[in-house]
Parts: sequence; structure tokens; C-alpha cells
Amino acid sequence: MTDLTNFSKSTMDQSLKFTREKNCKTMNLATNKQRRILDSLRTGMGLICCVAAVISGMKSRAEEPVAPSEKPVTAEAGRFIDTHVHFQDCKKGDLEKVAEWMQSNQIQRCITHPLAQSRPKNDAQRQQMLENYKPYKGRIARFCVIFPEEVNSEEEAVKILTQEKKDGALGFGEHYGVGLNFDDPQNMRLYAACAKVGLPVMFHMDGNKNLDGKGLPRVEHVLKTYPNCIVIAHSSGWWKHLSDGTCERLLKTYPNLYADISCTAGRSFSAQSRDFFIRNSDKLMFGTDSGWWSLGKDKKPMREFALIDELKLPKEVEDKICRKNAERLFWRN
Ligand SMILES: [Zn+2]
Repeated sequence: MTDLTNFSKSTMDQSLKFTREKNCKTMNLATNKQRRILDSLRTGMGLICCVAAVISGMKSRAEEPVAPSEKPVTAEAGRFIDTHVHFQDCKKGDLEKVAEWMQSNQIQRCITHPLAQSRPKNDAQRQQMLENYKPYKGRIARFCVIFPEEVNSEEEAVKILTQEKKDGALGFGEHYGVGLNFDDPQNMRLYAACAKVGLPVMFHMDGNKNLDGKGLPRVEHVLKTYPNCIVIAHSSGWWKHLSDGTCERLLKTYPNLYADISCTAGRSFSAQSRDFFIRNSDKLMFGTDSGWWSLGKDKKPMREFALIDELKLPKEVEDKICRKNAERLFWRN
């Protein structure tokens, strides 16, 4: 995830504060009579809004056959599988907005990764989340996550992850490893558990998460120790090792390593990057790191969509990166 979350959170906090202040001022100004008039207006407006919402709900259901359950997904259904997004999947109705966003961005499938802000906080939220996914089976998928300090043993992690897999999770992440080395023992038991259960791990690294040094020896240690753990690299902290050849060396050496291309757009990806994409076409997956901050008609799509056009990749390479590698890894076809 990018710093955009913090940005949108502070913008949201400000606008909430503004709305609250505005409401307070309105209340202070209103006399009893004014309040009665305001109340009756609110009731009337509420009714109108309800009717409008029902009509628009019926209209959108009739016009947009989004997310038909179990419908076979074909390439025509969309150009992209976005393997890296973050949505508020515990909230009722959020995935409907996601389905609209997918439709307007040519995305046939996407994978949501829980973050501290969005993952279920209790059993009721978890049940709501599972319920939310049901109509979107095969189109909107999810990963699950455990924070390293939340379990005391590999066995404990295996137990939780086995249930998560049963409940539809396709992988593990976004794995942050806050304040830990990438191969810290607390992280290692999570990789071991994911290898056992069969869940690919998608990681983020930066100045205080999943720490590593030049040449990424700690990432390499994990890849060697758990050859059955599929690892998906992500974030600018990973891509900054592209220039000295580390990313490519690791991708070429370890069959269990993949990378999603979110955080590449606007970085050092230029003419040489086209060749990098072609040389590593079996190991890269399309991803945008879009999230609840990207939903809505006024929001610009993430830069990765345009990057794919700009690279003008051979069709078979584009197909692999934009869909087929993810299909093979997550849906086995
Ligand atoms: Zn992310």
C-alpha cells in the first residue's frame, strides 16, 4: 500500500471535522420553530432519498450484470487480473463498488489484500466479509493475513491459515513484518506455515518493514529455506533493487519467486524495462495497489494501467503478465 492511504485518511478526517463543525453551527442558529421545519424537511428528504436509492438500485441491477456468480471468466471479460488491491471487504456493499470499478477498468478478476485498517476485527465482521464475497466467487478473491506477533508457533499459524484457505483465501498478505528483518524468526514461522498450507505470500518492504540489505540476502535466505513457499515481491523497497540486477537475479534463480508490478509505474521503468518485462514474463503479475481511496468516478486509475499500454509488449507477454500468470498461480488454469 502507498502513502495515499494516509493522505486520504487525513483528508477524510478534515472533511468529517468540517461537516461536524458545520452541523454544530446549524444547530446553534436554529430556534425551536426552525428546528421543527428542519425536522419535517429532513423526514421528507429522507423519504425521497430512500425511493431514489431503491429506484437507482433496481436500475443498476437491471443494467449491469456485474459479478454473476460462478460464470466462467474469459479473456473477453476484461484485459486485466489485478492481483494487488485493498478494499473494505468487511463492509456491506463495498464489493458492489469494487465490481463497478472493475467494470470501468477492464478488470476481470481482482485480489484484495487485508490491511490493519480493513481486516475483520471480530467474528461478526468476519462472517459479514465471507458473506460479501459469495456473489463474487471467481471474480473478487481475497488473501488473508496474520501479523507476526499474533501467533506463538508455526502450528498455531497453520491452524488459522488452514481455516482461512477453507474459507476461500488464495494467499497470505500484504505481509508487512513491521520492525522485523525479512527473515526474522517471527516471520520465518509464517513462511513455514504458508508453505505447509499452500498459500503464496505477498510482501511489502520499506525502511521499517521486512528489512533487508543490498543484494537482498534475507529474501534469498527465505526463498532457499522454503522452496515450497511461493513468494510474491512488491513495493518500491523491492523495486529499488532492480537497477543493480538483484530483482532479476532472484526471479531467475528461484522458481518460487514472483513479483507484482504495482509500484513500478513512474519509477526507473523506461526503455530497458520493456526488455525486463519480456525476459521475466513468466514471473510478473499485473497489480495496481488500488484501494478504497481509488473508488469513485472522479478518481483517476492507477498509473500501471497506462504503463502496460506504453510498454507495447508482444501480445503473448502482455497476456501472461496481465492475466495468465495469475490464473496459473491462483486458479490453476
Ligand atoms: Zn498494497
